[in-house]
Amino acid sequence: MLDTFVEMVTWGHEQVVFCNDPETHLRGIIAVHSTVLGPALGGTRCWTYDSTEAALYDVLRLSRGMTYKASVAGMDLGGGKAVMIKDAASPPTAETFEKYGEFIESLGGKYVTAEDVGTDEAAMNAIRRATRHVTGGVYEGGYGDPSPITAIGVFEGIKAAAESAFGSDNLAGKTVAVQGCGHVGSYICKLLHEAGAKLVVADIDAKRVQKIVEATGAATTDVKKVLTTQCDILCPAALGGVLGDKSIPALKCRVVAGAANNQLVEEQRHARALQDRGVLYIPDYAINSGGLIHVGSEYLGIPKDEALARAHRIGDTIRRIIATASEHGITTLEAANKMAEDRIADATRAAV
Ligand code: NAD
Repeated sequence: MLDTFVEMVTWGHEQVVFCNDPETHLRGIIAVHSTVLGPALGGTRCWTYDSTEAALYDVLRLSRGMTYKASVAGMDLGGGKAVMIKDAASPPTAETFEKYGEFIESLGGKYVTAEDVGTDEAAMNAIRRATRHVTGGVYEGGYGDPSPITAIGVFEGIKAAAESAFGSDNLAGKTVAVQGCGHVGSYICKLLHEAGAKLVVADIDAKRVQKIVEATGAATTDVKKVLTTQCDILCPAALGGVLGDKSIPALKCRVVAGAANNQLVEEQRHARALQDRGVLYIPDYAINSGGLIHVGSEYLGIPKDEALARAHRIGDTIRRIIATASEHGITTLEAANKMAEDRIADATRAAV
C-alpha cells in the first residue's frame, strides 16, 4: 500500500489534492510536483483505474515527469498532473468537469491543466467555465493543436541525433522507421519526407498508414515488426513502454528518437541497456517537449511565433544532452535529468 507522504517525500512533491464530489461523481487527484520554475502545468487524464493506489502512483509519476520536461524545455513552468478516476457506471459529464475546474481554481494558479488521455476539448471548455487555469486546444484565442509543433521539435531532435551518430544532420537517404501514424507521427513523416529520408511506417489503423503512403511514398511494415526494422533511426510515435528487455536486444537501428511518452519500460536500466548496445537514445521528454512549449506559451502569453522558434531550438537542447552524456560518461537520460535538476537547483538558490 502506498503511503502518500512517504511517496511525496521520496519523489519531492509539494502538494497532492484529493477531489471528491458525490453529486457529479467526481473523484480526482491533482499532484503539484514543483512550482520552483513557475505554475505546475500538466494535463488531466481521465482513466479507469483498478485502485486509488494505481491512480495515485500514476499522477505522482506523471507530475514529476512534467517538472523535468518543463525544465529541460527552458519554460518558466513547474510540473503537475491530474487524474480523474473514471467510473464506467457514471462517466464524467460537463458538470463533473466544471466541478473539477472549481478545485483547480481553488489552487489559485498553482496548477494549470490541459488535455490528456481521456479528456477532450469539450472537457476543457467545461473546466474553463470554472477557472482560467487551463490551456491548449482549439478554441477562440487558443493556439490550437500542439501536434505540428511537437513534430517540429522531434524533427529537430532527430537531426541533432543524426549529427552525432552519422556525422551530419542531413537526413537525405537515411531510413527512418516510424511507429504510429497519428497526429504527431503523420507530421513527423511529412517533415522527414521533405528532408529526403526513406520512411518505413506502421500503425494499427490501416487508413492512417495509407494516408502517409499516399503523401510520402513510404514503405510499410507490420506493427509487430516495426520496432525491429532495419533502419538508421527508429521513431516511436505511438505508445509508451516500447523499449524493454525484449525489444532492445532486437533493435536494428543506430538511433531511437521519437515523440511517444514514456518509451522506456524501466527508465534508468533500459537507458543504460540502449547505450550498452551502441544505440543513441534521445530522451523522450526532451525531444517531444514542443507540445508543452506550445500550450505553456499560450498560458504564459508568449507569442505563437516565439513558441515556434523555441520548438525549433529543441535540436540545440538535444545537442547539449548528447554532449553532457559524453562528457560525464553517463546515459543521455541521466544527462537530460541532470540538466533539468541543475536548472531547478539554480532557481531554488536564486530564490533564497
Ligand atoms: P494519436 O493517438 O493521434 O496517434 C497514435 C497513433 O499510434 C494512432 O494512429 C494509433 O493507431 C497508433 N498506434 C497505437 N498502437 C499502436 C501500435 N501498437 N503500433 C503502431 N501504431 C499504434 O496520438 P499523438 O497525439 O500522435 O501522440 C503520439 C505519441 O506522442 C503519444 O505517446 C503521445 O503521448 C506523445 N506526445 C504527443 C504530443 C502531441 O502534441 N500530440 C506531445 C508530446 C507527446
